[in-house]
Amino acid sequence: MTIPGEETARRLDEDDSGHRDLFHVPPAEGGRYAEAAYLVGNSLGLQPRGARADLLAELDAWATRAVTGHFSGPRPWVPYYRLLTAPSARLVGALPVETVVMNSLTVNLHLLMVSFYRPTPGRDRILIEDGAFPSDSYAVRSQARHHGLDPDEVVVRLRPRPGEETLRTEDVVDHLAREGHRVALVLLGGVNYLTGELLDIPAITEAGHRAGALVGWDLAHAVGNVPLALHDWDVDFAAWCTYKYLNSGPGSLAGAFVHERHLGDPAVSRFEGWWGTDEATRFEMAPVSRPPATADAWVISNPPVLAMAPMRTSLAIFDEVGMSALRARSLRLTSYLEQLLDTITPTRPISVITPRDPARRGCQLSVRVGRGGAAELTKRLAHEYGVLVDDREPDIIRLAPVPLYSSYHDCWRAADALAHLVEGTTAA
Ligand SMILES: *Cc1c(COP(=O)(O)O)cnc(C)c1O
Repeated sequence: MTIPGEETARRLDEDDSGHRDLFHVPPAEGGRYAEAAYLVGNSLGLQPRGARADLLAELDAWATRAVTGHFSGPRPWVPYYRLLTAPSARLVGALPVETVVMNSLTVNLHLLMVSFYRPTPGRDRILIEDGAFPSDSYAVRSQARHHGLDPDEVVVRLRPRPGEETLRTEDVVDHLAREGHRVALVLLGGVNYLTGELLDIPAITEAGHRAGALVGWDLAHAVGNVPLALHDWDVDFAAWCTYKYLNSGPGSLAGAFVHERHLGDPAVSRFEGWWGTDEATRFEMAPVSRPPATADAWVISNPPVLAMAPMRTSLAIFDEVGMSALRARSLRLTSYLEQLLDTITPTRPISVITPRDPARRGCQLSVRVGRGGAAELTKRLAHEYGVLVDDREPDIIRLAPVPLYSSYHDCWRAADALAHLVEGTTAA
């Protein structure tokens, strides 16, 4: 039996259509509809239709200009990465001088920890979430070892209360009030990749500062998903990838933010390379770097233009649409999906673990589906219904209706397919 509401979903899509026409939506692997119901933009964002032309333009410039393309043409390659600075800064609520696109996310976390994890005897702890993304866990543990410290001792993992799925802001703040004198660095995810929880970034940043710690944020699942104001929130540093909600292509470059107050500070150490020296004198090939007092001082290498071209396409879409319009549609779309799931979860062994309060989440809803079942269910959703979600061990599937291109009908299809695939009991 099909769940009700397909007509409603179609009508909502007419009234509140988003920008799906700007993206390539992949075909469905199975089911009754031509296009996939793509709910995995939190893992890899869809390709903007304009990306191909912008990438080809740089391939053409390479073919016709070769090395002179570094300094000539409509978009010379040497300063190309700066085309990404202002739009990235707008997305995270930063000044352009505080923002730079470079490397990959985990690399940026390392480079920023080189600058901002400075353990001293008595204050050497790094505070993370127990539910941190593994790469972040490995990064902080290896930073501890790099300083000759024992990661089992130094890395403190915050857990939700027993029986709860997500952290409470007040518990993080209390922890910092009690134990913060030992904490050198707080490094948390803005939106948790597994639960979809959005933490209270300004409140936790302030609590970290009150305790005398520095506070950095991994915004992999927050950027392009929820509005951010890193400068005003006084965040020390942040990093994010661009292949998830920012639709910049597989493995594309990452962003980094360093608060203005740390820029040009000679006490802040950095790992340096020739791209972090003052551009005007870079080709003097001097033996000592002259870094600018901007986040560009953290850049090490000559950045890959072919990876940056699709990002330019994608960031222009965010500038055009604006984060506040996207967030507004996101709130409507995700609560619609939540309402549909509410009609099927009470009679099935599945439950949504993402906070119900829209202020405490982005677009993603995570569903616990029972041990051992997540991978199989994910496969069947794709093969039999053309619904793309992903599974995370051991028992979670993640559904992310992305406000730029997901539709109400995608949400309806996901709920309908789940209702078919997960056996229910009749409510008493
Ligand atoms: C996606 C993601 C990463 C991925 O790191 P890369 O260095 O880009 O491979 C890291 N941390 C979090 C929280 C993520 O969600």
